[in-house]
Amino acid sequence: MKRLAILGSTGSIGTQTLDVVRRHPDLYEVYAICANRSVDLLVEQAREFRPEVVCIADESLYEELSRQLSAISFQGKIWAGADSIADMVTMPSIDIVVAAMVGYAGLRPTIEAIRAGKTIALANKETLVVAGEIICELAQKHHAPILPVDSEHSAIFQSLVGEDRNEIEKILLTASGGPFRTYSLEQMRTVTAADALRHPNWEMGAKITIDSASMMNKGFEVIEAKWLFGVPVEKVEVVVHPQSIVHSAVQFADGAIKAQLGAPDMRLPIQYALSFPERLAADFPRADLFALKDLTFERPDLERFPNLGLAYEAMRRGGTVPCVLNAANEVANLAFREGRCGFLQMSDIISETMNRAAFIQKPNYEDYVACDAEARRIAAEELNRKS
Ligand code: MG
Repeated sequence: MKRLAILGSTGSIGTQTLDVVRRHPDLYEVYAICANRSVDLLVEQAREFRPEVVCIADESLYEELSRQLSAISFQGKIWAGADSIADMVTMPSIDIVVAAMVGYAGLRPTIEAIRAGKTIALANKETLVVAGEIICELAQKHHAPILPVDSEHSAIFQSLVGEDRNEIEKILLTASGGPFRTYSLEQMRTVTAADALRHPNWEMGAKITIDSASMMNKGFEVIEAKWLFGVPVEKVEVVVHPQSIVHSAVQFADGAIKAQLGAPDMRLPIQYALSFPERLAADFPRADLFALKDLTFERPDLERFPNLGLAYEAMRRGGTVPCVLNAANEVANLAFREGRCGFLQMSDIISETMNRAAFIQKPNYEDYVACDAEARRIAAEELNRKS
């Protein structure tokens, strides 16, 4: 029996993780759950799974959470705030930490969990974007395995099973292309958040759906692939594949390409991260190749999707630049969702913030914290200048 802590339990990955647990009650136990602000759903989850710890990131909701949990006679610990989350993930009973919080907020608890030697099922890609170097060093030092939950990285990970000694020639990272894949630059100028939230293939949270539409999500995934699989970003090639059936592939030195295919359903990569190296039987939807007929592949258009180019640039410059990329994107993404900036302006804000922010070549954790704060301030200035 493995005990889980789920950070972001009320989000898209969190609820799907609980669905995987529900299917294998003999293998997994929910020990701790944590949400940002969704009290009602968190209480519902506490009622069903009876964890030892229920935690809310937003401390102002502690009273409300306590009131609702006592109404269902919850007997466990009720915690709130960032320090509590950091304590929660290091509890000795926990085997696996599912890191599925949104954005930069996932960094600190992931670092604490790694330091405590936990197995990390990593869905929070911003953690590796911001601080990939120190995350990888710590994971090695504390023997904390990092298992990817992101569908593309799970596909790469699955393609690499049994290939330990074999050199990767290239990673083929697939992208659906999002809802604006076929839009002209002119059309993209006027799209709204509601347009962007209609993703063709994947059901996800709002932040990542906007990142998918702008291809910043794919840029982040290029960086994530670099750190998870130890290849330079030049060896990570983005392939637009609108059907989302090939979840990514690896090309080896002899030219062989290994890929993982399947219906787009996040529960498969979530379950694989929890059960690795085993595969557990599941009745998730199957990809029917006969029904699909066409699988198509295109090169990404960096002119219409400059965020992808910005992500490669951030990695080439290195140091704190990827941290700036992430912070500026979080500001721009939220502004776009709230109707405070246009779709293409997001890239301008990010690019200008990358040019203005201070640069540190070999940052430590405190440098990342300071860099993140400075980049958010600069991005907010750039945003004001545009509106
Ligand atoms: Mg993905």
